[in-house]
Amino acid sequence: MSTIDPAIQHVFDEVLLRNAGEVEFHQATREVFESLGRVVLRHPQYADASILQRICEPERQIIFRVPWIDDSNRVQINRGFRVEFNSALGPYKGGLRFHPSVTLGTVKFLGFEQIFKNALTGMPIGGGKGGSDFDPKGKSELEIMRFCQSFMTELYRHIGEYTDVPAGDIGVGGREIGYLFGQYKRITNRYESGVLTGKGVGWGGSRARTEATGYGAVFFTEQMLATRGESFDGARVLVSGSGNVAIYAIEKVHQLGGVVVACSDSAGVVYDKDGLDLDLLREVKENQRGRLSDYAALRGSASEYRAGGNIWSLAAETRIDVALPCATQNELHEEDARVLAANGVRAVAEGANMPCTPDAVRVFTEASVLFAPGKAANAGGVATSALEMQQNASRDSWTFEHTEERLAEIMRGIHESCATTAEEYGEPGNYVLGANISGFTRVADAMLAQGVI
Ligand code: GLU
Repeated sequence: MSTIDPAIQHVFDEVLLRNAGEVEFHQATREVFESLGRVVLRHPQYADASILQRICEPERQIIFRVPWIDDSNRVQINRGFRVEFNSALGPYKGGLRFHPSVTLGTVKFLGFEQIFKNALTGMPIGGGKGGSDFDPKGKSELEIMRFCQSFMTELYRHIGEYTDVPAGDIGVGGREIGYLFGQYKRITNRYESGVLTGKGVGWGGSRARTEATGYGAVFFTEQMLATRGESFDGARVLVSGSGNVAIYAIEKVHQLGGVVVACSDSAGVVYDKDGLDLDLLREVKENQRGRLSDYAALRGSASEYRAGGNIWSLAAETRIDVALPCATQNELHEEDARVLAANGVRAVAEGANMPCTPDAVRVFTEASVLFAPGKAANAGGVATSALEMQQNASRDSWTFEHTEERLAEIMRGIHESCATTAEEYGEPGNYVLGANISGFTRVADAMLAQGVI
């Protein structure tokens, strides 16, 4: 089992104390610290400059009140966050999450992951994250718009194309980015395209940005499978979630000759033993904003809906080759990992951020299941955001094919740097170690060069 090297244990203890109660932030920092002992021993300059201490402390944390008026004319209050974590490599970059589970601790865990993820892409972007405990579920279109406008009425003063560039995450898609952008433009009187990514293709957005996170996770998995002479052709796949990441992971698996037999939402699981109907799924989720129970009802006897079901336990009932957790953090537990590993699953890649618990990751590693951590596997979304910034800066608009090819190339590059770094540190195939060390050293070297700031 991975442990933290005694040489850096005291730094981690300080992080725990200083961020008491932020359990997800502890989980994310612990995982990175478990990889870094050897790096700090090899490169004493990092310890001399207190890089570890500095990298765990956000450069700036903003917490604000978001008042808005609901459809019954009542004033509602939510809390907004933006954590500007690290700008060594470029402007802070990372999504906004609107979900009742959002706290400062959640945003810090996501922002911390984002630093290394963004570094792995090789693009000039720093790490940040934001969001609100606002729950979009059950809200009307107008309530969503009023909330987004109020959120931006505070956020606008902290962001900018050279400062901090938010995008979407859970609960924030193209519609919300539109409302946020509109309000930013109105307040600042600037058509500053590069201030947000995930915009509509007709007004400064990038083609393939919507597809990028899901596609990227599948490209990364394809690379991992290839190291063992395998591919998606004929593979049977589980994809948890049914949001933007899941839908486009399913699409790419199907394009590569695999079959996705199940996906999920917070209420249940659909299991279509011969493969999901992606067109119907998109219609229900994207156009009707419906639930998977609606999909199952429309699909009829080809589909089985399991209310409250566990998607991973399907591996005990039917052959599954690949699992892609694309829903949310800590959704795949130790027991789930055991079921997957014991039933012959060969690869697991995190489309969501930190969906596998540390115990689940340990089970995969011990069973030699190929495992890709989110900061590597789901980096395609933010990488394509950086491509959107590039197109905005040059007032250009690329074709879908060109953008997808750039994305594929970036994902191959991330796989390559994780694999080479893991090998260099004596643990070939350990993508967690490779991603952490490779991402960290890029940021640490830039921080060293920029002095004590
Ligand atoms: N929310 C996505 C992530 O977790 C994308 C962020 C972005 O495009 O800035 O990486």
